[in-house]
Amino acid sequence: MNDLEALYRRVILDHNRAPRNFRRMDEPCSCTDGDNPLCGDRVRVCVKMDNGHIADAAFEARGCAISIASASMMTEAVRGQSKRFAIELATAVREMLGGTRPAIEPAELAALAAVRQFPSRIKCAMLPWQALAAALEGRSAAVTTEDDRPTLNRT
Ligand code: ZN
Repeated sequence: MNDLEALYRRVILDHNRAPRNFRRMDEPCSCTDGDNPLCGDRVRVCVKMDNGHIADAAFEARGCAISIASASMMTEAVRGQSKRFAIELATAVREMLGGTRPAIEPAELAALAAVRQFPSRIKCAMLPWQALAAALEGRSAAVTTEDDRPTLNRT
């Protein structure tokens, strides 16, 4: 097992056992549901905005360990950040999972790159980020990993 795989296993296990920001949000500004029918993952991502910044980000989900862990890490990474930063990070994660970007910060998120070894699980990792991008753009219609409209490139 290489270092990335070891980190991946530890991070996925940790976030799946104790997901961060896994809760219903009071008075969110925007929420978007996401669905990954290939795995059965379902997620709802909610954000509360304050002057262009993400004052709070939370999620509720029913799904596999990878989708839960990805959502947990995502909410930690974007809370307190600007909308622009979060959308750029979502794009970076997609590029990393797609293999066109080697690694991203923070290191915990970089561990998600190990998912590339399991192509069927890439959509599990990507699902919460799709829902986040839609929520940030005020699109409340549910997103699905099978929807190939570009959802992360718009700002
Ligand atoms: Zn899954």
